[in-house]
Amino acid sequence: MVVIMKPGFTQSQLEEAIRNMEQGGVKVMVSQGTETTILGAEGDAGRLDEEKLSQLPGVERVMRVTEPYKKANRKYHPDDSVISIGDGVAIGGRRLAVIAGPCSVESEAQITGVARAVKAAGAAALRGGAYKPRTSPYAFQGMGTQGIDLLLEAKEETGLPIVTELMSPDQIPLFEEKVDVVQIGARNMQNFDLLKKVGKMSKPILLKRGLSSTVEEWLMSAEYIMAGGNPNVILCERGIRTFETYTRNTLDLSAVLAVKRQSHLPVVVDPSHACGKAWMVERMSLAAVAAGADGLIIEVHNDPKNALCDGAQSITPDDFAALMPKLARLAECVGRTL
Ligand code: PEP
Ligand code: MN
Repeated sequence: MVVIMKPGFTQSQLEEAIRNMEQGGVKVMVSQGTETTILGAEGDAGRLDEEKLSQLPGVERVMRVTEPYKKANRKYHPDDSVISIGDGVAIGGRRLAVIAGPCSVESEAQITGVARAVKAAGAAALRGGAYKPRTSPYAFQGMGTQGIDLLLEAKEETGLPIVTELMSPDQIPLFEEKVDVVQIGARNMQNFDLLKKVGKMSKPILLKRGLSSTVEEWLMSAEYIMAGGNPNVILCERGIRTFETYTRNTLDLSAVLAVKRQSHLPVVVDPSHACGKAWMVERMSLAAVAAGADGLIIEVHNDPKNALCDGAQSITPDDFAALMPKLARLAECVGRTL
């Protein structure tokens, strides 16, 4: 349940409403938005007296929330969340954020070279996997801690915040110390134990949509992280499994609209894993911005043919540099900047 306060309510009216809700046995989450102040009930709202609450002097109205996600729900927090990821970069505001970099960190020359190129083209952050969730145990598994250190070197050179995937709770102390944005990959979206643990981290979490997850399941996973105490969740649509095999996955751009309506959390789109084909990345990136995405995460590799992971979907630094001005022009059409 949420209680919406009247414009111009007084402090004592606010306190009275909170007291009333707490007496009903719930914890109260106060969301002070630009236009409205909302009191969200956390816990079992079944015992709250809706009638009585709606008649309190400072209360405009009371709304039952039927969705199972609360902290991620826009009804609890009407304004868009803007999540700061370090070095003056934020995701979710008017300005679009483009995260770019290789699927995996492969060497110092590779990651710093790509970092310099994407930075020059206007990227807001650098991606690169150090721990890779590969389908085959015989495939390249990532450089591990060494990969994280190489990302830090690239950050040192370019100032770009780094985004990299965490796969196991053992990696949490290392990521807490060194990483700017912690990616939870599609395969771990419903690893609830891991979600609870990253909910205790202080770093923003980029939560990829599961391979076959519904919008509601995805938002419930965000809720796990937020319920743990970490409000900084960035959602990432990266394509879902359908009957279609031409593309690696099917990019579900309607999900961007759905989650933005249901939730205040920012959403970025990953056209690379969605399509699996480098030649589709430009058009799908433009389409994602047109659909209202708050940013993109794009795989960029200096030598896609010889990439150790996901070469077929990686664009070159030159392709990326050509894409950015097009994104900037489109951004303007939808009231955003790049
Ligand atoms: C990745 O970002 O390289 C990755 C493995 O993504 P996903 O979890 O979306 O497959
Ligand atoms: Mn990849």
